[in-house]
Amino acid sequence: MIVKKQKTVCVVCGKEKSGIPIREDFVIRLIRKLKGIFKLSTGNRLVVCNEHIEEAKKRRERFEKGLLTYAGIGAVLGIILILINILISFDIIRLLQSLLLLILLVIVMALLSLYQYFPAMATQPAILEEAVKKVTRVTKVKVTKTKKK
Ligand SMILES: [Zn+2]
Repeated sequence: MIVKKQKTVCVVCGKEKSGIPIREDFVIRLIRKLKGIFKLSTGNRLVVCNEHIEEAKKRRERFEKGLLTYAGIGAVLGIILILINILISFDIIRLLQSLLLLILLVIVMALLSLYQYFPAMATQPAILEEAVKKVTRVTKVKVTKTKKK
């Protein structure tokens, strides 16, 4: 097997440069998988070159803020729905259903913010991964609790 030397490409300027590697999160993995399916994969390693560290930080921050804002809007909408549900008639099944709907709303809203997605550098904290882990954990707890009934 011929091992091709991987090019390192800056995610900001797209030029072949060395720099800080980006963090592999689920978005990057998903893009890679899709590219693999459509045979578009370049096999490049993505980095942020020294010239674009500030730019990358800014764009990552913008994305994270957008993500939190959208998820927050989803949460507020979900809570309003729950309150309406409780006011109409209180029953535990409906409450659990609304809670699942709340989580779904937050996820959908978070997905909407992906249009401005920008990867984090390996040196930055992995808030996206953490958030995904948390949501998965909460969802699992909810589902097992519902199943026990
Ligand atoms: Zn660059």
